[in-house]
Amino acid sequence: MRVALLSDVHSNLAALEAVIEAAHKAGAEAVWHMGDLVGYGPDPDAVVAVMQAEGAECVMGNHDAAALGLMPITDFNDMAKEAVLWTAARISEATRVFLSALPQTRSDGRYTCCHGTLRDPLWEYLDTYDAARAHFDAQTTLCSIVGHTHRQILLTRGASGEIEALTPEEDGVYAIAGDDTATRYCINPGGAGQPRDGDPRSCYALLDTSAGSVSFHRVAYDIATTQRRIREAGLPEALAERLSIGR
Ligand code: ZN
Repeated sequence: MRVALLSDVHSNLAALEAVIEAAHKAGAEAVWHMGDLVGYGPDPDAVVAVMQAEGAECVMGNHDAAALGLMPITDFNDMAKEAVLWTAARISEATRVFLSALPQTRSDGRYTCCHGTLRDPLWEYLDTYDAARAHFDAQTTLCSIVGHTHRQILLTRGASGEIEALTPEEDGVYAIAGDDTATRYCINPGGAGQPRDGDPRSCYALLDTSAGSVSFHRVAYDIATTQRRIREAGLPEALAERLSIGR
């Protein structure tokens, strides 16, 4: 089965539609999302509706939790706070019900999904060696998939326990199951609705569960439409501007 791996759509409908279309063209039969469907962007209800129509398997992110009032926003930055409050005040009851039902982690025996790390699924960034080590220590499956940093990365922990981080090449294909059964993998497909690696294009990864491989992709989308919607919504201007530069 080929699975489109997405994370951090953040209410960016134009990005989500472009990525879903590209993933289906590339053969994706399922969609998994690694958290933060809402927050920052202007179209939370429409994004959730697309994911429901796709039958996407989703986990909860910190912005989803905050919009539901399940997490204090004291540690959010000012822009994030403003977006959380905007989202919380506007999402429909159907969106609230969908988000409330999301688990913090989900696993099918081979793949485990969460937003941040398996040590702290809602909040911790997997961007330090310490966080990576704790994450792999908690990982009981071959491969995990995370989001939250909004950057594509592939981590491996070999039999010796050494962890390697690789920034994937665009359209690069990487094995996630070798002869060495002790090796563990962790994929971050990047921030579909708000990339932060300097490339404004949306992003996803395509997991091929039969072949045991993953490929990483970028997709151009109509950034101007999302920016217009952000301005119409009265969300902070910087949230529109950052989409142009991928930060
Ligand atoms: Zn996020």
